[in-house]
Amino acid sequence: MVAAGLPRQRADREERRDWWTSAACKEADPEMFFPVSAVGLSGADIARAKAVCASCRVRLPCLRFAVATRQVHGVWGGMTAEERRGL
Ligand code: SF4
Repeated sequence: MVAAGLPRQRADREERRDWWTSAACKEADPEMFFPVSAVGLSGADIARAKAVCASCRVRLPCLRFAVATRQVHGVWGGMTAEERRGL
């Protein structure tokens, strides 16, 4: 039974390792994704970051990673840290 689970576990690990290589934010300004606050000019950065995430094809694995690793800062998977707290 354990051996039957190995290919799936390997596939899961591959997904976790490879999703970031397709990130739409690879070339984006990191300050957009990690603003100093959620208001004022930083609010505009968050909106721009979310717009990038909206077109990202690895949005779901990115969000899963952020939640699984308890990322407490930044926009991941189109959500701020505060928005992710509800997941
Ligand atoms: S969902 Fe957003 S933060 Fe995650 S990889 Fe894509 S663009 Fe980057």
